[in-house]
Amino acid sequence: MQEKKRKTAKHTSEAHRTREEIKKDYRKKKATVVFAIALVYLVIVAAAAVIIDDRHVEISLRGDEDLLAEVGHELVDPGAEAYLNGNLFGRSRNEIPVRVEGKPDMDKIGDYLVVYRADFANKGAECSRMVHVRDTTPPEITLKHEDGYLANWLVGYTEEGYTAIDNVDGDITDCVVRTEVDDKVFYSVTDSSGNEAKAERQIEYSLSEPMIKLIGGEEVEIGACLRYEDPGYEAIDGSGNDLTSYVQVTGNVVPYQVGRYQLNYSITNEQGETATAQRIVDIVPQPYIKTVIPEEKTIYLTFDDGPSEYTDRLLDVLARYDAKATFFVTGFQPEYFDCIGRAYREGHAIGVHSQTHEYEICYANDQAFFDDFLWMEDLIYSQTGSYTKLFRFPGGSSNTVSRMYSPGIISRLAKYMTDMGYVYFDWSVDSGDALGGAKTSYAVANNVTAGCSEETVSVVLQHDTKGFSVNAVESILRWGKNHGYTFKALDETSYTAHHPIAN
Ligand code: ZN
Repeated sequence: MQEKKRKTAKHTSEAHRTREEIKKDYRKKKATVVFAIALVYLVIVAAAAVIIDDRHVEISLRGDEDLLAEVGHELVDPGAEAYLNGNLFGRSRNEIPVRVEGKPDMDKIGDYLVVYRADFANKGAECSRMVHVRDTTPPEITLKHEDGYLANWLVGYTEEGYTAIDNVDGDITDCVVRTEVDDKVFYSVTDSSGNEAKAERQIEYSLSEPMIKLIGGEEVEIGACLRYEDPGYEAIDGSGNDLTSYVQVTGNVVPYQVGRYQLNYSITNEQGETATAQRIVDIVPQPYIKTVIPEEKTIYLTFDDGPSEYTDRLLDVLARYDAKATFFVTGFQPEYFDCIGRAYREGHAIGVHSQTHEYEICYANDQAFFDDFLWMEDLIYSQTGSYTKLFRFPGGSSNTVSRMYSPGIISRLAKYMTDMGYVYFDWSVDSGDALGGAKTSYAVANNVTAGCSEETVSVVLQHDTKGFSVNAVESILRWGKNHGYTFKALDETSYTAHHPIAN
């Protein structure tokens, strides 16, 4: 019964609802259903849109796929740009970051691949370009200029210098090809990449023939001598270039022979043009030397052909008696050359005799005599520090053996040597120690004292290559002192005791 009661109550409340309320309720339910259906539809549409849109990364290069870049420069990479793109909604406005892989070595010529990547939700994209690092810069040629330089009359233009420097190859000066055409010089050089550089220069010519200036003048006077040296000259061309070393001298001066000579100085360039100058050389005799004969009793002891093993002993004896003598020396015993210096330092006179003392050599001709003489002159200088003017002809001035080798040679030499200021000595007393038959000290001393006693002034011939002759000297000195003689060394003014020349 209770159940029935409740059913009845229900029926009673439904009965209370208005028709309007029922309608409203229905509409509400319907809207909910419509909304739910719309929602489902929307979700389906959205999902479809995402699938259809298919968002993905798109990347593209800025600039060309192949990029030419200069070696040694910094790479200017235009880069790449990346965006998200979809089929439905199109490209997004914001770029997404791009990673760059691969870095070209800009100091090295080559081809380098550069890759650009962009990623989005595990979906990346990439693109790449090839960078070609190349050398397209030509080398640089630098021409040097010497201030005030003007081309040379003799040899034309002398290169002032140049350099060629390349950005890759460095100094390639050695590779420069240089050509001179007329008044221009062309330079060209190519680097290892084939880039060529060129340069040219204009040659400044101010050519006029050189002046040859003769030092000492166009006419010079020179005392006769064996060692002639031209006073000198200089040649300067119109551009101020010194061409002295190109001057050629022709003509001949015989410096030992008094006379007038002409020398021609000339300089010729490659075009055959010539500049010249002439000089007159007057060879004049050296000042005349007057002979002074001493009034007091004087003996000039002279010793030929040394130095030898006996010379030191002879010098000892002379020193003991404070006597001076003269040595006409030779060059064939070098081990005793130092005796020449000793004799000189001890106040004795040194004169030239002969280097070889071989007649066929020293009398072969005039020049042979001079060569022999000069050798001795130098030897004496080396030992004494002084040049001597004294000499004695091998065999004396009256020798006739020289005629076999050169007729008239002694006559010629006597004049030449005198003109040159040399003084030759013969002798007035022969000790006989060489050809005179004296074989003992006693005989030598006898010959000398007998000869000297007849004259106030004597020039005595001995040889310090003979021991017995040297041994005779002490008794000669003693005799001389006892008889009031002074033993002196010869000098240029001394009594020459000349013999008659026989050749
Ligand atoms: Zn001799």
